[in-house]
Amino acid sequence: MAFIKINKENFFYNLSQFTKKTGSKESIGMVLKDNAYGHGLELMAQLSHEFGLTQAVVRTYHEAQIIKPYFKQILVLGDVACVDNICSFTLNDLEDIYKAQKGSTVELKVDTGMHRNGIAFEALEEALILIEKRGLKLKGIMSHNRSADELSSELFWQHKKFEEIKKIIGSVTPNINIRFHSFNSATSLRLPCQNEELIRLGIGGYGYSELPSVYETLELKPVLSLWAKRVSTRKLKKGERVGYGGSYIAPRDMIVSTYDLGYGDGWMRSNGFKPFIIAEGLPILGRISMDYITLESRKDEVCIVDNALESGRQVGTISYEIITQLNENIKRMIV
Ligand SMILES: *Cc1c(COP(=O)(O)O)cnc(C)c1O
Repeated sequence: MAFIKINKENFFYNLSQFTKKTGSKESIGMVLKDNAYGHGLELMAQLSHEFGLTQAVVRTYHEAQIIKPYFKQILVLGDVACVDNICSFTLNDLEDIYKAQKGSTVELKVDTGMHRNGIAFEALEEALILIEKRGLKLKGIMSHNRSADELSSELFWQHKKFEEIKKIIGSVTPNINIRFHSFNSATSLRLPCQNEELIRLGIGGYGYSELPSVYETLELKPVLSLWAKRVSTRKLKKGERVGYGGSYIAPRDMIVSTYDLGYGDGWMRSNGFKPFIIAEGLPILGRISMDYITLESRKDEVCIVDNALESGRQVGTISYEIITQLNENIKRMIV
């Protein structure tokens, strides 16, 4: 089967780059949702712990339970709150306050302009009263930026709005001991971080920035590479066709091999008309099958992706999607 190499040195390099910005490892919450962006949940939890991170962010309580041994604090982004001594749960909506188990630790998401999740600014007071009434422990107020990775000033008004919220909460409840956080990777690259109690670091930790190059403030190195193994090799005569639909026609006599990667592994089939160029510079020949691709190569192992940003651009998507969709069953190994 195809396999994935996780480059520990590059991961640590990225984390130390962000540690320089925050000034401490404690204020970095490594986002490990969706199988750690396809890198492998438990493996990346272990490595984060080994580097010295103490906080993680996941989507579900199930993910949180798998990585609990490695962290002091875990923020769950999208699940019903329950009592847990390590996990805090995001309240994405007023309704979440009613669903939460009494005594659970929660972080209230405020909508500062993304209009995806979070309560409206106007409902803030109501939410705070309700949280208290329902016997929930409020640990933080959070928000998410909609355009941090775009060439625009949008980030700044959203950031300002969140700063206002901080002030308001500080003035109505001066003794309240809660944390505030709104920084994802792109925001952390663009704004100073040393006063942030928590940055929620996702894609940047894995070595990518989708920011326009003018914002390239830190050097980042891709952590993941995707490899496939040779299954069989054959000679093709000029004019012979390869794969489903025979869409590739050999322009000359050639030697090709199949490799064990396909859309069953989370590799996109696309339309098969514009060939994907793998990391080693070879085009994939013809259609992508469920478990196989064909290349003009005789190597036993070939590298398909070593930079998901570049791969994403080839197929009209972002690095996030390329890596996140890689099947959980693909073996991951640390190099
Ligand atoms: C996924 C996610 C992040 C991480 O975003 P990156 O762009 O990968 O850094 C941060 N906060 C929330 C709420 C998220 O859902």
